Amino acid sequence: LVKARNVHKAFGDVEVLKGIDMDVAPGEVVVILGPSGSGKSTFLRCINHLESIDQGSIMVDGEQIGYELRKERLVKLGGYAIARQRRKIGMVFQQFNLYPHMTALQNVIEAPIGVHGESRQAATDNAMKLLDRVGLASKVHNYPRQLSGGQQQRVAIARALAIRPKLMLFDEPTSALDPELVGEVLSTMRDLADQGLTMIVVTHEIGFAREAADRVVFMDGGNIVEQGPPEQVIGNPQHARTRAFLSRFI
Ligand code: ATP
Ligand code: MG
Repeated sequence: LVKARNVHKAFGDVEVLKGIDMDVAPGEVVVILGPSGSGKSTFLRCINHLESIDQGSIMVDGEQIGYELRKERLVKLGGYAIARQRRKIGMVFQQFNLYPHMTALQNVIEAPIGVHGESRQAATDNAMKLLDRVGLASKVHNYPRQLSGGQQQRVAIARALAIRPKLMLFDEPTSALDPELVGEVLSTMRDLADQGLTMIVVTHEIGFAREAADRVVFMDGGNIVEQGPPEQVIGNPQHARTRAFLSRFI
C-alpha cells in the first residue's frame, strides 16, 4: 500500500531524511521508534504531503504522492489534486486539534460533508458508528471542553476514520495525554489494528509496539537503522544505537 524509495528531505542545509526506503503492505501495522529529531514526524508528514520531498518517491495505493503521470511524464500536482490524494490517508497528531465550537459528532461529520459532499444523513450515520467504535457513543453531543484528553483523542481518531482512509498515520497520539488516559487510546488503536486497518504509528509506547506492531522500524539521524518484527527489534536489537535508545525504557 505504501512504497517509499530513497526519500530525502532537508530544511535549509539540515538534512532530516537521508534516503528512507519503506514498504507497508495492506493491513500491516508499522511502529516507528526513534530519538527526538530523528525525522519520524517529517517522514509521516511527507507521506501525507504536508511536506514535499527533495528526492525519491512515495507511492500510496498506486499513486505517487504529489505527482501524476500525464502522457508518460510526471507532473507536479496542485492543491486540489493533492487534497484528493490525501483523502486516502487519515492522520492523528499529538495535539488533537478538534474544533472547539463543534460537538464530537459535528467534528466527525465536518470533512465528509464539507470536503467529500456526503449527505448529512449518511455522514451522521457513519459518524455514530465510528464514535461507537471508539467507545464514545454516549458523548456524541459533548463539546471538546466537556471531554477528557483521551476522549478528545478518540474523537480525533473517529474524525480521521470518517474519510474512509486506506492508510492511517499516527504521530505520538498519546504523548500529550495524562498517563492514566494513555491506555484507552492505545486500546482503541489496538482494536483498529485487529480490524485490519493499515497503520503507521510513531510512538514511544514500547508496550504497544511489542503487542500491536507487525513490524518495528528504528530511525535515527534521518536513516532507518534497523527494522523487523517486534520480538527482534525490541527483544534482540542488533545495533548499538537501537540498544541505547531502548535501554531508556527498561
Ligand atoms: P520528536 O520525537 O521530537 O517528535 P522527530 O523524530 O519527529 O522528533 P522531526 O520533527 O521529524 O523529528 O524533526 C527532525 C528534524 O527536522 C529536527 O532537527 C527538526 O528541528 C527539523 N525540522 C522539522 N520540521 C522543520 C521545519 N518545518 N523547518 C525546519 N526544521 C524542521
Ligand atoms: Mg515528532
